[in-house]
Amino acid sequence: MLNWVASTAIVLGAAGLLYAQWKLAQLLRELPESRVRTGWKLMTFLVPLFTLGYFGYIPLNWGLYQGLPDLLVPVIFLLGGCFVCTVVSLTHSSVEKIRRITRLEHESITDPLTGLFNRRHMDRRLDEEVSRARRYGQPLSLVMLDIDEFKPINDRLGHLIGDYILTTLAERMHLVLRRSDLAARFGGEEFVVIAPHTDLEAAMALGDKLRNAIAGTPITLTGHQAAPPCAPDTLTVTVSVGIASLSSDPQSSETAETLIARADDALYRAKQDGRNRCEASPAATGLSAAL
Ligand code: GH3
Ligand code: MG
Ligand code: MG
Repeated sequence: MLNWVASTAIVLGAAGLLYAQWKLAQLLRELPESRVRTGWKLMTFLVPLFTLGYFGYIPLNWGLYQGLPDLLVPVIFLLGGCFVCTVVSLTHSSVEKIRRITRLEHESITDPLTGLFNRRHMDRRLDEEVSRARRYGQPLSLVMLDIDEFKPINDRLGHLIGDYILTTLAERMHLVLRRSDLAARFGGEEFVVIAPHTDLEAAMALGDKLRNAIAGTPITLTGHQAAPPCAPDTLTVTVSVGIASLSSDPQSSETAETLIARADDALYRAKQDGRNRCEASPAATGLSAAL
């Protein structure tokens, strides 16, 4: 009788180990290549070894169980299997939860079409950057881009091609920008770049670089499944750019809102002056920054 109780405890412990092995395989699929993953991979070799040890122990000790104290080792085997199984299951659930939270966090700050940051994140970061730049007296610029004559493109070629153009522009912006710059989709066909440590002169150069990256190479439409028969092979898209830099005047009461308003104003002038150009907002001083 005791032999059967001991063997059952060991088999149950081994079942726990096998379940842990299955969970380990799932865990490894979730983890990116790293030292942590290598550690868990090592576990996938150790767990089968232990399982074999469990099963080997049963025939070796069969018939040697005389009293309840002899069941101590099989019970420890059982608890060991349960412990490993619980640790691996909890780790797997934690990794899944962390991944879900990370994905939700990413989605809450990302524009789904272009992959750039969304307006909400841009507003929050601009507030932070303006406060930081003002406190430490560092330059900060805001570059606002608006696609020229985008509505006729949408009307003529369809919204899916319009979306494709928006995505292509976002990719081109990414190639030009520094890692410290923050690019966001501000509205429908408007983009904003927050450029820390960038004065007006450097921001004008950045604006021209962005404008050239967009207008300099036509976008290929041939082969795009949404392109209507009337679509040309390639399409050159231009943008107008409005730029505003944080005032270096310590008396200035500039805020994120006034900076956006000034960049918007400059963008409006770029449109008025013929589009496909950069316009800078005159530096705000004193109360004028409050608009
Ligand atoms: P302007 O040079 O003065 O900026 O002219 P515009 O035609 O670009 O300006 P308007 O504001 O009249 O048109 C903006 C267009 O952007 C209208 C709308 O159809 C398009 N749009 C906004 N959001 C999206 C989007 O997510 N996808 C697509 N395909 N089009 C969009
Ligand atoms: Mg617009
Ligand atoms: Mg436009």
